[in-house]
Amino acid sequence: MQTQIRKIDAESLALAKELLLQGEMVAFPTETVYGLGADARSDEAVLNIYRVKGRPQDNPLIVHVHKGFDLNTLVYDERPYAAKLREAFLPGPLTLVYRSRGTVSKIVSCGLDTLAVRVPSHPGAQAFLKYVDLPVAAPSANLSKHVSPVSAQHVFYDLQGRIPLILDGGACSGGIESTVCDVTGPYPTVLRQGLVSREMIEKVAGRCDVYVPKAGEQVRSPGMKYKHYAPKCRTCLFDSAEEAAARFAAFEKEGQRAYALCESKYAGMFPQGRVLDLGDKPEEMAARLYALLREGEQVADVIVAIRPAEHDGIMAGVLNRLNKACAGD
Ligand code: AMP
Ligand code: MG
Repeated sequence: MQTQIRKIDAESLALAKELLLQGEMVAFPTETVYGLGADARSDEAVLNIYRVKGRPQDNPLIVHVHKGFDLNTLVYDERPYAAKLREAFLPGPLTLVYRSRGTVSKIVSCGLDTLAVRVPSHPGAQAFLKYVDLPVAAPSANLSKHVSPVSAQHVFYDLQGRIPLILDGGACSGGIESTVCDVTGPYPTVLRQGLVSREMIEKVAGRCDVYVPKAGEQVRSPGMKYKHYAPKCRTCLFDSAEEAAARFAAFEKEGQRAYALCESKYAGMFPQGRVLDLGDKPEEMAARLYALLREGEQVADVIVAIRPAEHDGIMAGVLNRLNKACAGD
């Protein structure tokens, strides 16, 4: 199969719709990462996503819809605080987990009685979802366990020859996957941290917890079980910049080409041209992390990362991804 990369226009949207209705997959941009979309109503189409990505079949998918789509056709929208969250953050990088009405393929939720729904704000995503006017099941458009894609070229690198179409909307501005928040209970619970932080949700809903799986309990967000987001090269992660610099030097002495992944303030501790610079603001770090991991794996034998000290707000999401990518969590 040939994989086309097309700018988003009337012609490529018409092709995208035709492909989805045939049970095929279309990759599309969002403000977080690129998604791999298929018709959420079709078992066959949804199974295709798992097959192409090599995704474990107990890790449910998020359904994406345009901002005018009637959510009541998909889920029971019961909690008044959920409406407040929608008003405050949607369209945007927040996925809400509701009780499902069972109107999409059961394979989307892997047999759970809930459904995760997201309304992305990226204009290209909105144009695509509006044009097809379907619930679109979409995980990130990478091979399972690899770093999520934040450009059409990243999608092509992972899925070339396996999907027919990538809609190119440029580089993703957000950079890490959406916040996943369960809204079935008396107050919201964050299952996966992201650019809509726990603190932001708490401000709107009055209370918000972050779910931490207890030993022996069945996890509520199956994606948490898996190693994720890992570059192909070796990685190591340090809290101390001095230790990272020492390890970097040791790798180089052993003849291993090392690259440092760190905040701008530490860049001077490493040789020029060997720094994958995260910047210094949380939004910058989120936006750059995956592109730098993908750049690093192409050139480095080993990425030596320094974990940023800040862990509140959206840094909780950034650190979660960095830990999964570099520490094997
Ligand atoms: P990805 O599509 O790779 O960004 O991953 C989707 C994330 O959403 C995973 O962490 C899933 O476990 C989570 N998710 C999707 N649907 C549900 C659901 N119904 N209940 C809980 N978590 C979900
Ligand atoms: Mg993913």
